[in-house]
Amino acid sequence: MSTLVDSFGRQINYVRLAVTDRCNLRCQYCMPAHGIDIVPKQELLTFKEMYRVIRVLTELGVHKIRLTGGEPFVRKDFIGFLEMLSYNDLLEDINITTNGALISNHIDTLEKLKKVKNINLSIDSLQAETFNKITRRNVFDEVFKTMELLEKSSMNLKLNVVVQSGINTNEINDFVALTKDKNIAVRFIEEMPFNGKGQREMQESWNYNKILNEIKSEFDVAEIQSEKSSTSRNFSIENHKGTVGIIPAFTRTICGDCNRIRITSTGTFKNCLFDDGVFNLRDFIRNGASNDDLKELFLSLVKKKPENGFIAEANRTKGDVSESMSTIGG
Ligand code: SAM
Ligand code: SF4
Repeated sequence: MSTLVDSFGRQINYVRLAVTDRCNLRCQYCMPAHGIDIVPKQELLTFKEMYRVIRVLTELGVHKIRLTGGEPFVRKDFIGFLEMLSYNDLLEDINITTNGALISNHIDTLEKLKKVKNINLSIDSLQAETFNKITRRNVFDEVFKTMELLEKSSMNLKLNVVVQSGINTNEINDFVALTKDKNIAVRFIEEMPFNGKGQREMQESWNYNKILNEIKSEFDVAEIQSEKSSTSRNFSIENHKGTVGIIPAFTRTICGDCNRIRITSTGTFKNCLFDDGVFNLRDFIRNGASNDDLKELFLSLVKKKPENGFIAEANRTKGDVSESMSTIGG
C-alpha cells in the first residue's frame, strides 16, 4: 500500500479537519468582535464529501483525525457525522477540539462512540469575568460544567489554554493547580497572530520558556517522554493526578516531527498551519475526481510539505498570517 511520506521522510498519519468556519463565541485572539466573514453554506464541504476525503486518506495510512472548526458542534448533525466516521474501520482515533459551550447534553452519546477518545476543551480562564471577556459571550458556567462532566467521563480530557499577556497570565499556576486532583492534561498554547485581523496589543511575548519559568516558580516539574509527534512538551508534578504541557505553536520548535496535514471547512488542503493553502479539494471533487485521482493527488501534495512552519510562512503568496484560526481549523 502506498502511504503518505513527505520529502523529509515524515510519515503523515494524522489529519485535522475543520467541519465548519462558524462559531458561537468570539474569542479575542481568534477573531474580531463582529466575527469573521463566513462563507456561503454551499462552499463548505458536505459531510459526505468529508467522509470520502477521510476514507481515501485512511487508505493511505492516516489513522487519526482531529475534528475542529470554528466550533464543530455548531454544525447541524455533527453527532451524525461522528457516527458516520466511526464506521471507517481504518480510523482508530477520532479526537475533537471544542469550546464546550454546546456539548453538556451530548457527553453520554460521545462516550458511546468508542473511537472518540480525546476531547480538547478550550478554556482560557477559571474566572467567569475574565472568561466572558475573552470569549465575548457569557458562557463560563456552561463551559465549566462541561469541563467537570468531561473529567468524570470515560474520555481523556485535555484543556487548551491560550496564554494571553496581561489577561490570563496571572492564572497559569491556577490551571496547573487543577491537575492536583483532576486527571486532566492542561496545555498552555503560545498565542499566534491568527486572529482574523482583530486588534491585539500584547504587553510582552509569552513564549515557551517564559510559560515554563512561570510554572517552575511554584511547582517542581519533571519532563515526561512524549510521543515523538506530540505538539506539546509535557511535564508531571509529584502527587498530581494530571499533567501540564506547553505547545510552542508560535516558536515552532516541534516541526521536525510533524505528522499532520489539515483540511479547512471549504476543502483547502494545507501541509502546515502557516502555509496559505496548497490545493482546493472541494472543486477537484465537485469536478468529478475519482478516489484514485484523490490518492494520487494526496501522495504528491505531501511531498511539498515544508520542513517547518518558518519556511511555510516565508513561502506564502497571500500575505502575512492573519486569517482566523476559525477559518483554518485550529
Ligand atoms: N472552537 C473550538 C475551540 O475553540 O476549541 C475549535 C476551534 S479553535 C480555532 C481551536 C484551538 O485554536 C482552540 O484551542 C483555540 O484556543 C486555539 N486558537 C485560536 N486562535 C488562536 C491563536 N491566535 N493563537 C493560539 N491559539 C489559538
Ligand atoms: Fe470560536 Fe474556538 Fe475561535 Fe474561540 S477559538 S472564537 S471558540 S473558533
